[in-house]
Amino acid sequence: MPYTDPVPIIEYHAIQPPVAGATYPQLFVPQADFVDQMKWLDAHGYEAVTLDQVEDAWYKDGELPPKPVVLTFDDGYLSQYVAAFPALEHFHWPGVLNLVTKDADIPDEDVQKMLDANPPWELASHTITHADLTTLSSADLKREVAGSRKILQDRFNVTVDNFCYPAGQYNDAVIAAVKAAGYRGATSEVPGLATSKDPYVLARIEIELDDGLDGFVSKLKAAESGSAASYTPSPGG
Ligand SMILES: [Zn+2]
Repeated sequence: MPYTDPVPIIEYHAIQPPVAGATYPQLFVPQADFVDQMKWLDAHGYEAVTLDQVEDAWYKDGELPPKPVVLTFDDGYLSQYVAAFPALEHFHWPGVLNLVTKDADIPDEDVQKMLDANPPWELASHTITHADLTTLSSADLKREVAGSRKILQDRFNVTVDNFCYPAGQYNDAVIAAVKAAGYRGATSEVPGLATSKDPYVLARIEIELDDGLDGFVSKLKAAESGSAASYTPSPGG
């Protein structure tokens, strides 16, 4: 049976306690909270897959487990390698790394280890400079969207199929640039479950510092019941 159902895509940033003076402390989730959230998913039958696997199922009759979930990590914080990567290895789960090509915290050799893992993480583009794409000239927009894809593919020798809008900002021109660059999908910060009908505005469930396990579960359940608009994603990211 083809799998065409909506899929939860979880959005994380740093997997560590907030650093002193952080502009957006809500973007930090301590490793212990993250591990509790992963254990809950595992105990409730969820299995993490890449976004590519979801798209293969939606559009090319690929296989998915009965309760798939996609775990995305934005920007390229070092703690995504130090804390999230080993935690997911324990479950034999992949993540999706939404990486900026310029000035990411994670060294390239550590990104490479995530891409070489079993199962391998998926590498997705989060632009070159994390610019608000809705404010750019068409030349700069193309550079950030198509240019970042080429940089990542050349640097890591993998196919980059998906894109993530910096701070969730997009408009019709941005979506057109993402399609023209050859991406098959793009993640947003629209709350809810991602659906096959909206490949360039894939909804996500953003997990924040204050959520802990209870907030994680209630956000996931709200998304699954179609009432995810009851919370507002935090700024930044
Ligand atoms: Zn970001």
